[in-house]
Amino acid sequence: MIERVSLANLPTPIERMPHLSEFLDGPELFIKRDDLTGLGFGGNKTRKLEFLVQDALTHGCQTLLSTGAVQSNHCRQVAAAAARTGLKCTLVLAGEKPAQAQGNLMLDYLLGARVIFTDKPSRDETLRQAFGQSESEGEKPYLIPYGGSNAIGAQAYALAVSELKAQHLQADAIVFATSSGGTQAGLMLGALQTGFKGEILGISVDLPASEFRQVVVKILNQALALDGSNRVFTADEVRVNDQYCAAGYGVLTAQEIEAIHLFAHQEGILLDPVYTGRAAAGLIDLIREGYFHKGQKVLFWHTGGTPALFAEPYASQLIKAASSWDKV
Ligand SMILES: *Cc1c(COP(=O)(O)O)cnc(C)c1O
Repeated sequence: MIERVSLANLPTPIERMPHLSEFLDGPELFIKRDDLTGLGFGGNKTRKLEFLVQDALTHGCQTLLSTGAVQSNHCRQVAAAAARTGLKCTLVLAGEKPAQAQGNLMLDYLLGARVIFTDKPSRDETLRQAFGQSESEGEKPYLIPYGGSNAIGAQAYALAVSELKAQHLQADAIVFATSSGGTQAGLMLGALQTGFKGEILGISVDLPASEFRQVVVKILNQALALDGSNRVFTADEVRVNDQYCAAGYGVLTAQEIEAIHLFAHQEGILLDPVYTGRAAAGLIDLIREGYFHKGQKVLFWHTGGTPALFAEPYASQLIKAASSWDKV
């Protein structure tokens, strides 16, 4: 077992969603609340960072360096993890510096991170420069990979499947938002380790399935090798649905707005506008299409991201669709 620091409130609860299940007239729906991992508004990256920050500390590093979009949930959780463990944090964010720091970006500053803006094509170069600068200042920086997705970070979601097993829910399927692949690789590793037999279905947030399967299988096989296992997965064993990402990364669609409102109205559960909103829209569509049906138990794994609800343009788009806003 690989060492880890404690950052998350675990186990995260599993809740029933009786009203949403009844409304959709399909499978019995459950939700795993990884939006409640706690640290700095939580999310799925907090689990991965327990392992990655431990690795940074083991190597005697003083600064965590990572990268993502301006509204990156990952980067916000890196900033919180750094603050919690007494490390410094530099974030390279791809995108224009907005006039106001909102949502995750506001929290990055509040958590004490140093933020560098760059454009997407120069992201890796800017990251290298920031790494070099930290070294030239006499520090030992630690690079946390994009999304915390590598063989070390994936261990966290393998462990999360053991956590799920101890919660005694026999789900026929786990559905979740998938993007840099570490969550899915970890869940697949954990399913192998625990004998979980249900479907592990990622809803792609941005990549086409063919590309995404390669990303996941690479992380998964590296994680297996790290565990000393001889099992090797092939890309076609990765279950992913890319039918809901055509609008592009971070673009809020009508289906996603409906999904966010449905979860909020039916269950009082807040999704996020980039990841879980897209995954939930996919889940709802798959139920309506009959892919998931009555008699099944489906677990929606909430991966966090809620601070982005408070960032523009998402906040305005969501409130515009709220039926009571203009009817005072
Ligand atoms: C990063 C993120 C994901 C995707 O997880 P990966 O491990 O990168 O595939 C899903 N949901 C939220 C809210 C995220 O921040």
